[in-house]
Amino acid sequence: MKILVTGGLGFIGSHTVVELLNNNYEVIIVDNLYNSQIDVLDKIKQITGKDVKFYKEDVCDKQALEKIFKENEIDSVIHFAGYKAVGESCQKPLMYYRNNLMSTINLLEVMNENNVKSFIFSSSATIYGDPGTPKYVEKMGRGKTSNPYGTTKAMIEEILEDLYKSDNTWKISILRYFNPTGAHSSGLIGESPNGIPNNLMPYILKVASGELEVLNIFGNDYPTPDGTGIRDYIHVVDVAKGHVSALNKIVNSNSGVYVYNLGSGKGVSVLELVNTFERVNNVKVNYRIADRRPGDLAEYYADPTKALNELGWKAEKTVEDICRDSWNFMKNNKN
Ligand code: NAD
Ligand code: UDP
Repeated sequence: MKILVTGGLGFIGSHTVVELLNNNYEVIIVDNLYNSQIDVLDKIKQITGKDVKFYKEDVCDKQALEKIFKENEIDSVIHFAGYKAVGESCQKPLMYYRNNLMSTINLLEVMNENNVKSFIFSSSATIYGDPGTPKYVEKMGRGKTSNPYGTTKAMIEEILEDLYKSDNTWKISILRYFNPTGAHSSGLIGESPNGIPNNLMPYILKVASGELEVLNIFGNDYPTPDGTGIRDYIHVVDVAKGHVSALNKIVNSNSGVYVYNLGSGKGVSVLELVNTFERVNNVKVNYRIADRRPGDLAEYYADPTKALNELGWKAEKTVEDICRDSWNFMKNNKN
């Protein structure tokens, strides 16, 4: 089976391509390298020993997509391409709405024209808004999103539901990720954001390596056991495997819209993550307590039961694995 992976050179996309190749799917990647490097393609080949067809194109360019569909008999699409920085989306909302929505609408239109109706979408736990309980279950539905990035995810979920209502031959899987982090155990692929990172693990890595001086822990007065914020950190390889499970499911199921949380089900505090990182890697992470970050919730984590029951998927890797693999990738890619 031939799978088109948009954004396949990015953080989650590249790990998913590896798992797809390991499961004997044929993969075609389209990525405009907005937030990724071309050398990831060679790293994927090194890890898997397999070849991948690559198009350097923008998914917002419909003609480019039409050409890709003409040149390849695509069976299914996994759509990662998009912008993902919460803070930036507040400063540049139109850029976020344009890229995230246009890429998706173009893709769905071209799929429709080519009668390819199997689609997996990268959504996020952010679409739950602030439901007033820390354990997020799919049946709770969408809440009020707090930034344009999150709103693009909620809007696309609605677009997909409307599409299915209009044409119930579509097979759609919406995967809501919690906090994907970690790296491939080879140390060849991982997450390497440019500049000063927003997310916790990339920031820890830069402090541990001496690139940044100190980690600001945003608040230690939350109503959590140690006062710091709690999230559900999930290893990126587990997230990648979740896509293979979701793909196997929609290939073998009736049409429909299937929604799953991809999380470990376990909440971990900022201090717990920092302490685990120091312990397993035997390295110091300087930190200080800073003010709360506006918009942050105290605590949330996934209820991953539905993915276990219906996909047979659950997170296998631990927080220790996440810390070890992240540091290994950082050390291998210092330059
Ligand atoms: P990433 O930025 O590493 O990967 C996205 C890839 O898409 C990049 O390689 C980028 O160059 C490419 N891209 C962006 N716009 C494009 C366009 N118009 N045409 C072609 N390529 C384009 O991000 P990621 O962390 O791998 O996230 C993948 C998806 O998962 C995104 O949609 C993101 O919003 C979603 N997601 C990520 C997280 C997370 O914490 N990383 C959490 C929830 C959801
Ligand atoms: N966090 C922190 N310092 C940082 C970055 C993040 O203390 O430099 C905290 C943040 O307040 C939250 C957790 O780490 O409690 C995860 O934040 P991240 O931005 O990685 O993910 P998100 O909160 O968007 O899920």
